Amino acid sequence: KAKSEGRSTYHFFEAGMDAKLQQRRSIEAGLRMAMQREELRLMFQPLLGLEENRVNCVEALLRWDHDDRTISPTEFVPVAEETGLIVPIGEWVLHEACRAAATWPGDVRVAVNLSPVQFRHKDLVGQVKSALLAAGLEPTRLELEITESLLLTESESTTDALHELRSMGVRVSLDDFGTGYSSLSYLRSFPFDKIKIDRSFMADLTTRADSQAIIKAVIGLGQSLGMSTTAEGVETEEQLAMVREHGASEVQGFLFSPPLHPAALANLLHSEAAKALASRKAS
Ligand code: C2E
Ligand code: MG
Ligand code: MG
Ligand code: MG
Repeated sequence: KAKSEGRSTYHFFEAGMDAKLQQRRSIEAGLRMAMQREELRLMFQPLLGLEENRVNCVEALLRWDHDDRTISPTEFVPVAEETGLIVPIGEWVLHEACRAAATWPGDVRVAVNLSPVQFRHKDLVGQVKSALLAAGLEPTRLELEITESLLLTESESTTDALHELRSMGVRVSLDDFGTGYSSLSYLRSFPFDKIKIDRSFMADLTTRADSQAIIKAVIGLGQSLGMSTTAEGVETEEQLAMVREHGASEVQGFLFSPPLHPAALANLLHSEAAKALASRKAS
């Protein structure tokens, strides 16, 4: 009996693996054609600067419309990384994001996520330069978001590329801070402009004293290192009040705005700019 149960468990396991592998292969095949079929697009999520009470920065977030559904980057970016497709896709994202930002009010920056795999490509710096040039965008209006895993796996050439980008005026942010194994040591490896505190800390902020203590400490750390801090995943007024009290520079989350279609984001930025102008004239 035990033996036959073992067998059926084994078969079940095998079938499960098959489905997973098949799904991965179909993502890979679809992704190879996604660019030429123009199935990729960007959504834009505004980040609210707490001191200025306005949008300083907007994050570009990739979407893939495929087979009647929209696929999340958490699903296809890992496949794009394994296959190397993230290099042309990432280049497209850079161009598209810079092009969009060039139409926004001149003091709003765009943030673009970079995969570690893009750094293995020799000419990442050249790709960034050409995206800026093609869009006619000032380098100071571009922020690049990298995760801790980048510095874990990459070499001197990575930090060289980051230094070169930063010397052009491009800003560099450390994304999803606090999720890696040795977050603190990363803060020494490169002079980041911004720390983005991972949203997992936000989720239980109002119920757990330890999450609160960690957020407070990270914001303080950012302040003493001269790095601004963004609280990711702010969904409630209580969370907003708390991170504001602790001195976060910026918030990103569904409370202020979800990721928006390009036109909706442009409307938001232009109406915000008009409001600011009107209040300056009135005063
Ligand atoms: P990320 O860079 O940390 O981006 C923030 C993610 O949090 C986005 O998910 C955003 O929609 C989500 N988010 C924002 N506010 C809230 C909130 O209040 N609550 C919750 N629950 N979620 C919130 P999204 O768009 O699904 O992207 C997931 C990840 O995929 C990104 O995380 C980033 O790591 C990656 N990604 C997205 N676009 C690109 C890209 O162009 N290139 C690369 N390499 N990776 C990308
Ligand atoms: Mg990001
Ligand atoms: Mg993030
Ligand atoms: Mg994240």
